[in-house]
Amino acid sequence: MSNNADLFKKIIAHCKEYGFVFPSSEIYDGLSATYDYGQNGSGLKNNIKDFWWKAMVQLHENIVGIDAAIFMHPTTWKASGHLDAFNDPLIDNKDSKKRYRADVLVEEYLEKIRAKVDKEVGKAAKRFGDSFDEQVFRSTNQRVLDNEQKITAISERLRKDLENNDLDDLKAMIEEIGIADPVSGSKNWTEVRQFNLMFDTELGSVAEDASKIYLRPETAQGIFVNYLNVQKTGRMKIPFGIAQTGKAFRNEIVARQFIFRMREFEQMEMQYFVKPGEELKWYEYWKEARMKWHKALGFPAEKFRFHDHLKLAHYANAACDIEFDFPMGFKELEGIHSRTDFDLGKHEEYSGKKLQYFDPEDNTSYVPYVVETSIGLDRMFLAVISQSYTEEKLDDGNERVVLKIPPFLAPVKIAIFPLLKKDGLPEKSREIMDLLKMDHHCLYEEKDTIGKRYRRMDAIGTPYCITVDHQTLEDQTVTIRERDSMEQERVKIDQLAAIVHEKVSINKVLQKL
Ligand code: ATP
Repeated sequence: MSNNADLFKKIIAHCKEYGFVFPSSEIYDGLSATYDYGQNGSGLKNNIKDFWWKAMVQLHENIVGIDAAIFMHPTTWKASGHLDAFNDPLIDNKDSKKRYRADVLVEEYLEKIRAKVDKEVGKAAKRFGDSFDEQVFRSTNQRVLDNEQKITAISERLRKDLENNDLDDLKAMIEEIGIADPVSGSKNWTEVRQFNLMFDTELGSVAEDASKIYLRPETAQGIFVNYLNVQKTGRMKIPFGIAQTGKAFRNEIVARQFIFRMREFEQMEMQYFVKPGEELKWYEYWKEARMKWHKALGFPAEKFRFHDHLKLAHYANAACDIEFDFPMGFKELEGIHSRTDFDLGKHEEYSGKKLQYFDPEDNTSYVPYVVETSIGLDRMFLAVISQSYTEEKLDDGNERVVLKIPPFLAPVKIAIFPLLKKDGLPEKSREIMDLLKMDHHCLYEEKDTIGKRYRRMDAIGTPYCITVDHQTLEDQTVTIRERDSMEQERVKIDQLAAIVHEKVSINKVLQKL
């Protein structure tokens, strides 16, 4: 645990040092849970967004993209249920004055018991060696069985409390199972209260005329209210999807863990409109399709897992998360929800406008059902960075930190170095850069030794470094060095474009989908 905590700290420091992520308005000591993406971070973020957009919109004839406003008519949030139900149960510790999400405290407690069980199983596996049968052990070992029973009982009680909004019982459970404040160790808790996560502000210049509006807590509603506009103008036939990326805002109770939970963040959402009755088929389809997208990055398969929701949101009839093994453990990266006709039905009710689809196949009209995929761009960024961050001991005894970012996502694709700042080498380097920069983001560097320049490029995940030396002027060849293997090869300048393209092109990744 502490090792991972150290690793997480290193990643955060690395992100700052190399221009990926800065605390927002840092010169004023920052603003909690708000971050700015720097010169390399914004590049990586845009590339992730592009990968998602292409996978969704470009590769699906029946999915189109939109870009809705952040501000929406306030009735939107009444209809969607956010005004009444977008709450989290919060609890304060009276001694440490720290605030927590009550359900998260319980979830973390459960995670600890799960880890204990896994440790027990691991120990037994070592003891019994080849003859170990995990299934038999799990179903017969008394300590494992007791812990499993405890997990089931607590999960079930949590689910019921959340479903019935039974905040008193939630508090009682926290006390009964003896959850202590992770910071102070104190068990002196306040009551559990509901807290609405939407930010509000005022629209209008004169106080009396101003009306309260909200910063959207999700991008999905911009899609729902435009469903008919898009369906009609795009002549879309069910099933079809609408995709969107954009900012969302939530006044999170506990916003920590770097960019994992922020108050201003970016979502990439797709709503897929289907015929009622077919939603669970499409739900399964999108579960698989989205997992495939994640795995196309080439990260180890065991880093991802599905997690079915204990508590279904007020709009869903099936829901799961794709979780990623972040430095702080497995956590939600993306949600896949079967939202029924809840949203469109409610918008019909509140707006008085019909939002039905006429199905020419069987001459019926209905409000479509919706399956949504919703991923946090910032969380995806954190997944990529934390999986890519690698500390390596080199053969020569030195160490390096290298970001093994999938090459097509790397913010800078090629760095070009003249060996010396003279003899026409800078000019030749610029010439090569002009050749490549139309297709790829290139960076020119002439300061420091080549070794130091390599290290700086490793630290931002640049797949290729090209060195221009005196021989280049004679025979039009350069040295190209690959990030992960550190292998260097002498190649002709006119081969460069093809070599780089082969490695950094997004096409091959898209073909896997
Ligand atoms: P959590 O349970 O972690 O609060 P959620 O279930 O409320 O998340 P959704 O409403 O399903 O999240 O939002 C979809 C996605 O948006 C999440 O999977 C996550 O990647 C991202 N997301 C949600 N809240 C935040 C946040 N505060 N900061 C960054 N990303 C977020």
